[in-house]
Amino acid sequence: TYEWSEDVKSTLKNIFKIDSFRPKQLSAINSTLSGQHALVVMPTGAGKSLCYQLPAVVKPGITVVISPLVSLMEDQVRSLTNKNIPAMLMTSTSAKEDTNTALNALKDKNTNIKLLYVTPERLAKSKRFMANLQKCHADGRLQRIAIDEVHCCSQWGHDFRPDYKYLGILSNMFQNVPILGLTATATAHVLNDVQKILNISGCLVIKSTFNRPNLYYKIIEKPTSQEDCLTILEKLLKYRYKGESGIIYTNSIKDSEDLADGLRKRGLRVGCYHANMEANSRSKVHLKWHEKSFQAIVATVAFGMGIDKPDVRFVIHHTISKSMENYYQESGRAGRDSCRAECVTLYRMQDIFKVSSMVFSSVGRLDHLYGMVKYCLNGTFCRRQQIAEHFDEDWGDADCNKMCDVCSNPNTSCREISLELHCKTI
Ligand code: ADP
Ligand code: MG
Ligand code: ZN
Repeated sequence: TYEWSEDVKSTLKNIFKIDSFRPKQLSAINSTLSGQHALVVMPTGAGKSLCYQLPAVVKPGITVVISPLVSLMEDQVRSLTNKNIPAMLMTSTSAKEDTNTALNALKDKNTNIKLLYVTPERLAKSKRFMANLQKCHADGRLQRIAIDEVHCCSQWGHDFRPDYKYLGILSNMFQNVPILGLTATATAHVLNDVQKILNISGCLVIKSTFNRPNLYYKIIEKPTSQEDCLTILEKLLKYRYKGESGIIYTNSIKDSEDLADGLRKRGLRVGCYHANMEANSRSKVHLKWHEKSFQAIVATVAFGMGIDKPDVRFVIHHTISKSMENYYQESGRAGRDSCRAECVTLYRMQDIFKVSSMVFSSVGRLDHLYGMVKYCLNGTFCRRQQIAEHFDEDWGDADCNKMCDVCSNPNTSCREISLELHCKTI
């Protein structure tokens, strides 16, 4: 136990209204409270935010949280405010008044603000903000710097953001202030790179498992014609997933509309969801799915944030994801209630080209897509073990419990597709 252990326990119960920690949350909290730099690596939805929100409440001073997305920050500030924890956010679009309040909080010894959320470009580009932050530090009130989605620092991550590279100055500029980086990207390559960029090499890495034992993983060979694809989806929805809720991910807006139309013509109740729809119709679709008047949503990856349906029983990928990180996150929306759910991917070679042009134009490289293709093609190794290894997790002799196509049916699922042949083409 530590001097703060009692406070941590009572804050969890009384302020966050949570009964117990999830794996690794407490070790992350203890290491950051003892002043060490650390990286927290946990899957999406595991509860990374608590690892800096709770310490922010337990200790005096201000925690600065750097986060890439304004919508994520707004969600968090709202939820903290509901718990009566004073928090603010500051973005380039904040009203002048709010910006001033936030800036003053950094200077004001009597402020009640505990967490201040900022975008990385604030640090990079606002001299006034940095000056106030230095004042806050000089007064001994800068308690901690949390960097959410910290893989955005690294060019090797799947979501590089140029403004994140400025964060390297923090560890030198704010001596004795612990940095806590958080991410769901677990490859050793990215984690090492992140440590280098932040100048915290050799820091503690706290990692929870990525294994989702209740998810069944399966690859299906995708037919060439759209009609045949529709037949597969129709059968799955009408028989295998009868009466259950799920998501069908597609790779383009057009695909999502075409597939939704096709399935409706075959008598299925499905909704369509993509970024070109108005917010109003998007939330209508979401709602109808929630109350089960739609069995499935046929969507682009725009359907992601804010899905809080625990009983999603299937996630079907009509087209492969652009990386294993993306696949893990998208398929991981299934089975949040810990009951069995299925993650099915339709794979065909032509789709590599379709996805690769999209991936290449946005990140300029294809190695992440390659990981996804490898997963689809490798029908001789447990899918779950492949996922674990992708995330640099020690699989050891852990058991899949026949929860993938390879393990449940070792003879028929082993398709002899030459990996080499396919890889040459991407
Ligand atoms: P992440 O950032 O890892 O994706 P979040 O921090 O957004 O995850 O948390 C996901 C959800 O889990 C939130 O609704 C949060 O309140 C909840 N949560 C976090 N920790 C716990 C816990 N120990 N017990 C129950 N719920 C938790
Ligand atoms: Mg998060
Ligand atoms: Zn398996």
